[in-house]
Formats: sequence, structure tokens, C-alpha cells
Amino acid sequence: MGNKKTSVIGFPRIGKNRELKFASEKFFKGEISEAELQKVAADIRQYGWQKQKAANIDFIPSNDFSFYDNVLDIAFLFDVVPERYKNLNLSTLEKYFAAAHGYQGDKGDVKALPMKKWFNTNYHYIVPEIDDATEFKLVADAKPVQEFNEAIAAGIETVPSLIGPYTFLRLARYNGQKKAKDFAAAAVNAYIELAEKLADAGAKWLALAEPALVFDITEDEKRLFKSIYEFFLDQVRAKTSLKIALQTYFGDIRDVYQDVIALGFNAIGLDFVEGLKSLELLKTGFPKNTLLLAGVVNGKNIWRADYAQKNSLLAEIEKYVVTENVVVGTSCSLLHVPYTVAAETKLPAETLQHFAFAEEKLTELAELASGDDAALEKNKALFATTRVKENSAVQGQLSTLTDADFERKPSRLERREVQKKRFNLPAFPTTTIGSFPQTAEVRANRAAFRKGEITCEQYVEFNRKKIAECIKLQEEIGLDVIVHGEFERNDMVEYFGSKIDGFVFTQNAWVQSYGTRCVKPPIVWGDVSRSAPITVEWSVFAQSCTNKPVKGMLTGPVTILNWSFPREDVSLKTQAQQIGLAIRDEVLDLEKNGIKIIQIDEAALREKLPLRKSDWHKEYLDWAIPAFRLVHAKVKPETQIHTHMCYSEFNDIVRDIDNMDADVITFEASRSDLKLLDALNEAHFETQVGPGVYDIHSPRVPSEKEIVDALHKIIAKVPRQNVWVNPDCGLKTRGETETTASLKNLVAAAKKLREEK
Ligand code: GLN
Ligand code: ZN
Repeated sequence: MGNKKTSVIGFPRIGKNRELKFASEKFFKGEISEAELQKVAADIRQYGWQKQKAANIDFIPSNDFSFYDNVLDIAFLFDVVPERYKNLNLSTLEKYFAAAHGYQGDKGDVKALPMKKWFNTNYHYIVPEIDDATEFKLVADAKPVQEFNEAIAAGIETVPSLIGPYTFLRLARYNGQKKAKDFAAAAVNAYIELAEKLADAGAKWLALAEPALVFDITEDEKRLFKSIYEFFLDQVRAKTSLKIALQTYFGDIRDVYQDVIALGFNAIGLDFVEGLKSLELLKTGFPKNTLLLAGVVNGKNIWRADYAQKNSLLAEIEKYVVTENVVVGTSCSLLHVPYTVAAETKLPAETLQHFAFAEEKLTELAELASGDDAALEKNKALFATTRVKENSAVQGQLSTLTDADFERKPSRLERREVQKKRFNLPAFPTTTIGSFPQTAEVRANRAAFRKGEITCEQYVEFNRKKIAECIKLQEEIGLDVIVHGEFERNDMVEYFGSKIDGFVFTQNAWVQSYGTRCVKPPIVWGDVSRSAPITVEWSVFAQSCTNKPVKGMLTGPVTILNWSFPREDVSLKTQAQQIGLAIRDEVLDLEKNGIKIIQIDEAALREKLPLRKSDWHKEYLDWAIPAFRLVHAKVKPETQIHTHMCYSEFNDIVRDIDNMDADVITFEASRSDLKLLDALNEAHFETQVGPGVYDIHSPRVPSEKEIVDALHKIIAKVPRQNVWVNPDCGLKTRGETETTASLKNLVAAAKKLREEK
């Protein structure tokens, strides 16, 4: 114990006050220059390094910064960039943004690369695209070298950190015949060249992150991993004196552990928070002269570390690794938590003392490493206080749930007939996912209300006007199922979190979701319950504006939980059921008040699927799917339940999704291929489906023809009577002009399909 070194895998990079987000958005609009944007980025990097230095972190990463995404950074670093972006007559940074979120302007018209959830987090990465002609070439002015130099200039020696070749090749998408293994040699050579450049610049360490090692790994993949690193280490040893750290996170590396310890890395990073087997693996041996970057401080949740528990974990670790080789680290990048608790001025100190965001976690690392007695005592006292306010009514309600609470009657096919008569919708019914553009005035109205600058009446009046306008617009566009637009919401989870008891919400605790998009996850603080209706008034008002059906719009329990920081003292299942009961109350209130269609978004259902398939049901789906069913099981047959998911990668859980027993599901499809449609077909998917026909993550306006083409692909696989037509997600991040144009094309495309035989 005592006097260990400390390491960090990655630090938040969006800026303490989201400076990068705002500067990037200005840059996209041409309001600031590239140099001005670069200056903001440099300041953000500087801030992170200085904080880590001040906290005495020994291994401070560099190159953890990104303008959009670290996987896309690797693609640009090694020039693995599709020609359609390279050929744009734009600066390199603009090409990078074109690949990240599409480009439509006087220089061309290209869609973005697909985006996917990053492992089991709510962060999204850009999926690199590789075709048979792709080469890996280290570009001049390599970002890791630049950022290393930049830190050196500020007097800080960092560990250049980047996604490793195995994970990069594993996550890329292959368009041609060639697969990952065919590119391994080229990729490794490019990484080796980078290693040489870093060594020349004076770097002592290079950390390669290989989180893909925590998946289930096949023999072929294992061979690929081994051959990559045997060659890499061999060459780097021959050419440089650089030390190499292999960093893993988001789980344990049980399938390759023996290979990893035999390869001869100078440091190995293991996750002892999510890595259920990490300790067990350690017991099978750990190389003598290798550092263990022990991921003991949770990089994904915001609770203070329990030092007693962490110390006993470290003591256990030290049975297998010599003390001087144990480095106290974070379990994953701190990208997944907000910057600092110090930015929260509204929550009481008694609450805040239980939180550790990125900056506070630096202190935790240092205190754990030094074994500081005073800190240990203080921490002990904190964990001795009872934090949670229990709610016995909710606990009682949970204990009396029976199977009937999870089973909607009658069957979906019977309900379909009832609903068909009730709604009398045309073929290919058109709708949107819920939110409409959140213009500056919409945000200003919410902000003014929050700050007490306008009265509740004024706030409601403004939103009603917006709702009425939004409905009029949708009627003019010709959409069949209307939404109210979600102007009262900042974020689909934070909104509900702030209206339900048992959550605590923050002012500034932003976490990057993708690119410039950040979310402020609520914190599950205690038992959850709903004391009053949340959305009913808005929905009822919206319905009063039109004869068309207006969808009630709720967020489902699994998503609320997955996008919150959960409690660590009760199970996720219990938390999901408590939230489920609260949302169920809301569903029934909407129904009682004349809302005929209710959408319960489960945008994030997939993302917490355990990374290993064998754990899917046992650890997750067996409580997550029932939690959704709990929410709608009690509605009438004629009430139509929709759900929405923000991705289309659920080929392997198609049956579980069907089992949620919704009447209609909309999901993202436009950014990925339509492979899912085959899976739906094979599974005889019963739920009606609206695979998004255009990408809302980009400002580009899809043409009518593009949408018609997408629909043709869809009806080749899905019975036409089951198909809905909609964008692939909510429109809140879009501008009004592009939204109206896109939706008009969408409606025109649906009409065209109706005319076809
Ligand atoms: N109803 C939400 C919206 O339209 C859904 C958002 C989402 O799926 N992320 O904004
Ligand atoms: Zn979505």
C-alpha cells in the first residue's frame, strides 16, 4: 500500500462549459475561422492536462482529445478515408467533419459515415469504411505527435494514447471482398511508423486501447490480435525504445488474457469495475516486469469511490502483482462522466459530497495511490451516512407485481384489427419521432422560465403557440400521425428524471453523446415514483389543435435508466421496475385523457446489452424487456403503443424486440445498411415497423427519390401493410427549413408508394 503511481485513460474534451460544442457549431455556420476553432481546442486540451498535473497523475494521456470522435481520428490519421470525402475541395478538418456528419453545399453532397454506440456506453463512434483499395498511410502532421508536442511545450510529459489496430479493424466496415486480416499488415506498419515518430518527438510511452478484447473472441480473431502485436512489438523494440501499454476497458479480457500477458507489453490495463473476471485472470499469473494499470476507479459512474472497498481490491491485486508495479487507474476513459462537481451550485453540499466527476476522480486516484489516512477516514464517514430516502409504498408495489402486470391483452394481431378501424390510416402512414427543431427561441423560453424571468403562464403560452404552429405545419405537410414537438423538453431523459421523484439532476454535468451533442444524465438517487402527471396537459392541448391523432410522447424505463447514472446500492432490475411503474401511471393518465396513440421511446435499450452474448438474457434482457411491458400492459386494446429505438443493429435481438409487444416500432436505418430487414423477415416480426428513411443527424435534405428508393428496399423484405414512413430519429437538432423540406419529400414519397401496386 501507499505511494503507487496513477494513470488516466482519457479526460473529457467537450470543454468544461461545452466550449468545443459551441465553437464547432459556429465553425459549421462559418461564424468563426478554423484557427479560432483550433484555439478553443488547444485550450481544452491544456485545461485537462493542467488538472491532471495538478492532481499528480503520473500517466497523463494525450491524443484523447477529438474534434468529433477518436475512431474517426484514427481513420484520418492513417488516411483510411473514403474518396468521396477526400475529393471534396475542403480543408482536412472540413473533410473530417464531412465524414462525421455529412456535407451538403457548393462543394458537393455526401452523406456521413455511419455512427454506432461505443461498446456499452451512450457515446457514439463513427464507423470507418474500408474497401479493397484502402491503404494505411500515416499522414503528415500526425495528430498524436502534434498533441504530444503541444503538451511538452506546456511542460507536461504525456502518454500518447490511441485506439489500437485490432479494435480499429474490428470496428470498421468492409465494403469489398477483403476483411480485417487482409489489412492487418498495412495497419500495423502505419502504427509502427507512428510509434517511431512519437519516439523521435521524445515520447517514452505509447498506450494503445484495445477495448474490443472484451468481446467474445473467436480463434481467428485471437490469431489476428496476436499476429498484430507480435509484429508491432517486435518492430517497435527494434526501432525505438518506446514503452508500450495495452489498455483494455468495459469488461475483462478472458479470451485473450494468456496471450496478452505473454506478448511482452510494458504495461497492461485491466478493468476491475466492469471486468467481472479480471481478478480471477490475474490469479493465473502476471508478468514480473510489467506495470498493471489497475482500473479500479469507475470511469462511467459519478458516485464517490468507496475507499475501503477499493483498498481491499487493491490489496487483493497486490497478491499477484508486486506493489510497485500496480498503478491506480480509471476503469475507462473519463469521457463518460462530466467535468466537475464544482460546477454544480444548486444541489446541497450533502448531496454533492457523494459525487465524483472527472476532476474529483483525479483526486480519488491520487488519494488511493498515496494511501492518505485522513482521506480514508473522511471517505469512511461519508459511506457511513444514509444517503437514500426510501419509499416504502414503491417497494410494496414492486413486491406485489404478478405476471398479469407484464402481459397486455388481447394479442397484438387482435389489437391491430381494432386499431385499424379506429384510426383508418392510409397505407404507409407517415409520422415523425417526436421532437421538432429546438430553435433558439424555444430554448430561450425554457431558459427564461427556469431562471424565473417569465411567469409560468407566459412559458405555457409560448409553448402552446409553438405546439399549435408545429401541428399546423405537420397538417400542411400532410403527415398522418402528429406529434406535439417536445418544445418543453431539453432532453428526453433529463426531462422525465426532473419530473419523477427519486432523481437528482444537475446544471452542468454534461457528457458527450456524439460529436457536438451532449447530454446531462439525471442521477438515480433513491426509490422512484411519480407524484403528478408530467406530459398530459401538453398532449391534451396538442390533441385539441387537430383532428388527426397526436402521439403521446414518453421515454421508457430502460432508456431512462440507461441514460441516467444509476444507483449502485440496488439492482438495475429494481430501478427499471420502479421507473416502469412511474411511466405506467403516465401512460394510463394519457389514455384516460383521450390520447389514442402513445409512443414510449426506448432509444437506448440496446446499448446496455452485455458485451458478451452469453450474458445477454441473464444479465439484461430478462429484466429490461419486462420493464417495458410493465409500462403498457394495462392499456386498452384500441390504444396504439409505439416505441422508438435509435439504431438498427438489433438483428440478434429481433425476437426480444418483438416481445416488447408494442404495436409499432420506429428505428434508425438510414445510416446503416438495411440488413436488419432480412432479420425482421426471418423472424416473422409482428410489430409494425418504421425503419427511418432518412438521416436526421445531418442537415442534408433527402430527395423524394432517395426516400422512395429506401422504401422500395424496405417493402422488398417487410409486408407493405406493416410499413410506416418516418425519419430515423427526433428532429430537435435540425433547422426548421431543412426539416420542412425533408418532411415534404417524405410525405411525397409515401404518396408515391401508395400509388404503386
Ligand atoms: N421522441 C424523441 C425525439 O424525437 C426520441 C429521441 C431519441 O430517440 N433519441 O426527440
Ligand atoms: Zn432516436
